[in-house]
Amino acid sequence: MIHFLKRAIVVGGGIGGLSAAIALDQMGVEVTVYEQAAEPGEVGAGLTLWPNAIKALRKLGLGKQVIKTGAKIFRGEICTPGGKILSGLDSGELEFRFGAPVVAIHRADLHKILLAALPPGSIRMGMVCSGFQQDEEGVTVHFANGQSDRADLLIGADGIHSRIRRQLFPEVALRYSGYIAWRGVVTIADESLRGISREYWGRGKRFGIVPLGNRRIYWYATANHPPGQTPPPAQRKETLLRHFGRWHSPLHAAAVKTVIAATPAEAILYNDIYDFSPLPQWRRGRVVLLGDAVHATTPNLGQGACMAVESSLALARCLADGKDLRSSLRRYESERMPRTAWITRRSYRLGRLGQLENPLACLLRNMMVWLTPERVMKKSIEKAVGYEA
Ligand SMILES: Cc1cc2nc3c(=O)[nH]c(=O)nc-3n(C[C@H](O)[C@H](O)[C@H](O)COP(=O)(O)OP(=O)(O)OC[C@H]3O[C@@H](n4cnc5c(N)ncnc54)[C@H](O)[C@@H]3O)c2cc1C
Repeated sequence: MIHFLKRAIVVGGGIGGLSAAIALDQMGVEVTVYEQAAEPGEVGAGLTLWPNAIKALRKLGLGKQVIKTGAKIFRGEICTPGGKILSGLDSGELEFRFGAPVVAIHRADLHKILLAALPPGSIRMGMVCSGFQQDEEGVTVHFANGQSDRADLLIGADGIHSRIRRQLFPEVALRYSGYIAWRGVVTIADESLRGISREYWGRGKRFGIVPLGNRRIYWYATANHPPGQTPPPAQRKETLLRHFGRWHSPLHAAAVKTVIAATPAEAILYNDIYDFSPLPQWRRGRVVLLGDAVHATTPNLGQGACMAVESSLALARCLADGKDLRSSLRRYESERMPRTAWITRRSYRLGRLGQLENPLACLLRNMMVWLTPERVMKKSIEKAVGYEA
């Protein structure tokens, strides 16, 4: 029981919002999650969850289920488009070192696990938040259908385009990364990739393949491109085959071309990749932000969802240990700010490196990656993945 917090409203039923609701519910707070989508479970594609996220999910009581549902990744490789391995990371050793594995999971599966951990009736779908008003006694949240609800605390977990953040901090501007991403999931019988994820680095574009288990493969691709030009699904496949169709075609079935060709065009997701510079403030009064709404990062380190789960635990812990709402939120903000800012900046820089286009710059980059010993690679990601929320 938290004496100053009886009831909380979470806007956004993504990974961040659901994790926060589970953590608060476990502390005896009555929570309602409001999600704009009509149906639960985002379509999405795959996700890599690093040991930091698995450990946080364990604290929510969901670690075993997530590991069982997803697939452990034992090795990550960076390759040239022709398939030459530039760098390899023994991610199995990370499990030994940090006590939790690297797991690839379908987003929809993770959503299902999170939803099932909430008491029935705690999520309301089809509710588009349009704003809020707060006073000394509480915060009232308004919805586009004219309904409203009131609680002691509002958690804005409504993603990178957050309505709650725009009301709190309208000055925040998104930063375009310079590239777009496509994503998809296919079912392909290919045992050769079991436990190995690969990212191929070309000139101004990358292609990644991650086994999800049960013969499913999650793939993603990036290319330098202006924002705001989302093509119709039918064109996406053609563009992908033009960009990547001649990349790595070894004997195994999970060749880049085969993976793209096997994905139904309408199931290929397309996103302009944005983040924003780390924010100096995460809260005002009874309203606080969480997940992509406050620490959106480019996907290069695969840490966005991992950090959202971490932040959920941190928020719940700060509230449970705090003496009042104000000081608890202040503590959450100061605890989470440095780490999330560090990851956001690092991920942005890694993306710039991966998206280099100039042939000479790419040659130098590849040589640098090739010459970097594995232990140095490991060291460079340990701070991100070895963290305990
Ligand atoms: C290409 C790509 C690959 C990625 N790969 C990884 C990875 O491998 N590992 C990893 O950890 N992260 C990865 N990420 C990042 C990860 O997807 C995000 O960080 C994570 O989904 C953030 O969760 P969230 O709950 O904060 O936000 P979201 O997932 O964006 O959820 C926000 C929710 O709020 C709802 N919402 C929005 N506005 C409103 C409103 N006004 N009213 C009500 N509801 C609203 C939305 O419908 C949504 O359900 C990747 C991202 C991309 C783009």
